[in-house]
Amino acid sequence: MRLIMLGPPGAGKGTQAKIITERYGIPQISTGDILRQAIKDKTPLGEKAKRYMDAGDLVPDDVVIGIINERISQPDCAGGFILDGFPRTVAQAEALCESLGLMDAQIDFVVDLNVDAKFLLARLTGRRVCRNCGQMYHVEMNPPRSSGVCDKCGGELYQRDDDREETILRRFDVYSQQAQALKTFYEASGRYKVFDGAAPIAEVSVQILSALEGR
Ligand SMILES: [Zn+2]
Repeated sequence: MRLIMLGPPGAGKGTQAKIITERYGIPQISTGDILRQAIKDKTPLGEKAKRYMDAGDLVPDDVVIGIINERISQPDCAGGFILDGFPRTVAQAEALCESLGLMDAQIDFVVDLNVDAKFLLARLTGRRVCRNCGQMYHVEMNPPRSSGVCDKCGGELYQRDDDREETILRRFDVYSQQAQALKTFYEASGRYKVFDGAAPIAEVSVQILSALEGR
């Protein structure tokens, strides 16, 4: 089972990917994580990526694709994988298609978690993180027992810069601009389905899993 998760940051891709991972016993591959790992392992592509990131530049497609190819060729990906955060562009999607073709494989399903900006703002601006232990809270959905204080360690809760309204809206815009072309690309494959990311997590995962079963 080879899957791609699409959706803006905050749509719940990580949460849903984890549920699918457990059901099918396949690894979740997040671009951010494997970039960091390649840099840590000092692989040739990792070193290349680091030079761009240190300069504050986006890592170019060919480097990202190279790192993804290295990762999906690992033995634990033999039974499949879930890609989260990749591909971002049609060029990346085409390159992925080509690499999989060389492995005599293909993407089986594309899960698109759809949410609007208003929903993301409500979900993300309420997020608080413990400065001390990193525990996450939500002022409405998962509040700490005492406002602004971590239940686990008593640390101070704060709002990350990433979770501020203008940052969220900017990220959403960047995502939406790139995503449209990607959706069109995968829609043509007949293996693409949109899910309502604003529905409760358990409900969304039931819908996704049944779509995967019926595929
Ligand atoms: Zn804490």
